[in-house]
Amino acid sequence: MTKFLFDPAPQAAVAIAGLDVLFPVARIFCVGRNYEDHAKEMGLAVDREKPFYFSKSTTTLRPSGANIPYPPGTNNYHFEMELVLAIGAPAFKIAAADALSAVFGYACGLDMTRRDLQLSERAKQRPWTLGKDVEASAPVSAIARASVIGHPAKGAIVLRQNQQTRQSSDIDQMVWSVPEIIAHLSGFYHLGPGDLIFTGTPAGVGPVAPGDLLEGSIAGVGELSVTIGEAQ
Ligand code: MN
Repeated sequence: MTKFLFDPAPQAAVAIAGLDVLFPVARIFCVGRNYEDHAKEMGLAVDREKPFYFSKSTTTLRPSGANIPYPPGTNNYHFEMELVLAIGAPAFKIAAADALSAVFGYACGLDMTRRDLQLSERAKQRPWTLGKDVEASAPVSAIARASVIGHPAKGAIVLRQNQQTRQSSDIDQMVWSVPEIIAHLSGFYHLGPGDLIFTGTPAGVGPVAPGDLLEGSIAGVGELSVTIGEAQ
């Protein structure tokens, strides 16, 4: 039996609504600019030729109810409320028409972002790692199983900050639909059980401060809440 030099990191996992087992997470993919109104507020047009992606480390996951520290190296830490897909079956070069069969379920997620660094990285045509792969930057609600809720193509997506509504849209406003995202991404990766895909955020993103309460919801999927902790 192989021994490790030190204890490996704990397996990243997300709760599953109505089940007492966890969904072990393999990878986290994120779609960029998937709502036209958000692309516009970022000063860019949506690319309708193909979606693009970045990724976050699985160690960035946090459960709903967590206190998320305000990370170092930023003065402009932003919320981005998103629908998250949980992949439950292998999908490689899958057609959009078949893609939903690979979805285990759906969750609410926040793609917390060092906006100042993301924009300066973007301006210099550098990768978005410091802007996006931020420690504790991926709080995700319990996964609602597709076998229970179906495959929502429509539903209000809302983010409230200290009881004020900041983001309010509908997941039917996504430029690239859930089947289209899976079909496209599966042309580059052997997607499989444990992969999460953040599907992009609507307009209204904005900065947080220590002490803030963020509450997100997606109709038919679930709810998520986190508080922002002290600056590190
Ligand atoms: Mn995002």
